[in-house]
Amino acid sequence: MKYVVVIGDGMVDLPLKELDGKTPLQQAKTPNMDFIAKNGSCGMLQTVPPGMAPGSDVANLSIMGYDPKKYYTGRGPLEAASIGAELSDDDVGFRCNFITEDEGRLDDFNAGHISTAEASQLIEALNQHFYRYGKFYLGTSYRHLFVYKKKDAATLESTPPHDVVGEPITEHLLKPENDPLAIKLNELMYKTSKILEKHPVNQKRLDKGKKLANMIWLWGQGTKPQMPPFVDTYGIKGATITGVDLIKGIGTYLGLTNVHVPGATGYYDTDYCGKVNFALEALQDHDLVFIHVEAPDEAGHAGDIQEKILAIERIDRRILGKLLEELPSLGDYAIAILPDHPTPIDVRTHTSDPIPYAMYSPGCESDKTEAYNESSVENSFKNSSKELMEGYKFLKFFIDYSQCKKA
Ligand SMILES: [Zn+2]
Repeated sequence: MKYVVVIGDGMVDLPLKELDGKTPLQQAKTPNMDFIAKNGSCGMLQTVPPGMAPGSDVANLSIMGYDPKKYYTGRGPLEAASIGAELSDDDVGFRCNFITEDEGRLDDFNAGHISTAEASQLIEALNQHFYRYGKFYLGTSYRHLFVYKKKDAATLESTPPHDVVGEPITEHLLKPENDPLAIKLNELMYKTSKILEKHPVNQKRLDKGKKLANMIWLWGQGTKPQMPPFVDTYGIKGATITGVDLIKGIGTYLGLTNVHVPGATGYYDTDYCGKVNFALEALQDHDLVFIHVEAPDEAGHAGDIQEKILAIERIDRRILGKLLEELPSLGDYAIAILPDHPTPIDVRTHTSDPIPYAMYSPGCESDKTEAYNESSVENSFKNSSKELMEGYKFLKFFIDYSQCKKA
């Protein structure tokens, strides 16, 4: 049996007046998603547990079959894995942004989208000056990592910088204010400011009128998560296909193969065909592939209805269409389509609302849902005896569903 789970990040939405009350998913032409819904089984999942922030990390961990309440320790450690920084048991991995500080305020959470080449020089300077504090690792653009050798720092309160743009920095530093570790790390953030401000990279940015990367911001920290390997938990061998570091990081901890697809960008221009071709190849020696597409989420954050519709149609035609065509030649198969969380155009960020899924395996039970979209699946769900399922239980449910012919 071969399994494919296609994740359209942030794909589901709310009705939009620009689309006469339809959602982008309803507006988009999605014959393949609709085929899966009609001939397969649909329902609703709570991928973000109550009380947790609706991040892609938490939601995707759920979809990959692990309970975030039990296994999620923070974004930092997941990103660490994807850039090859190994955390020991005493380490705390912080996400480290380059930010722009201006007159005591957090002016830009991404330092004017600083390039990786520029960031690389700044990270080097930080490691030269602050090696006594810990180690900085280069990620991409403004997104980097800081590893700190004191486990207790994991429990400090930290703030995502994109949530406090324009606000006074002093109000959002690490807390509790009087905690010695918080004091030390807050001091570090300010000290980096002095080094970064004078660095030639910033002098050049200043000359060109670009935003400065004149401070670091530490957040999203956690210790190394302890997750049992996917193959032990589910008895099958899995792989991921994604352009996003966070998802690769989860894959690394679960012992999944992170298949590198050259054209996978994590943006609108990602190579959909490349993704599906590499997925089909991975299925030669893996049982399950997660194909993750970031584009609809990016369109949601940008509030771009047309890009969101386009991304959904491309997932439908280029990925699901090709899979439905090719999978039968590999024998028995099961396929699922779902988002990780909603990223509604009108909200422009993630929400914690339940999400609709559709899954199909030839010859297995069908509940004849009309189409794959928010209202069709919700209606069929309400008329069924199904209950809202915790997101992490879905994967086993999907595998069990596909075993119908053996039952
Ligand atoms: Zn997401």
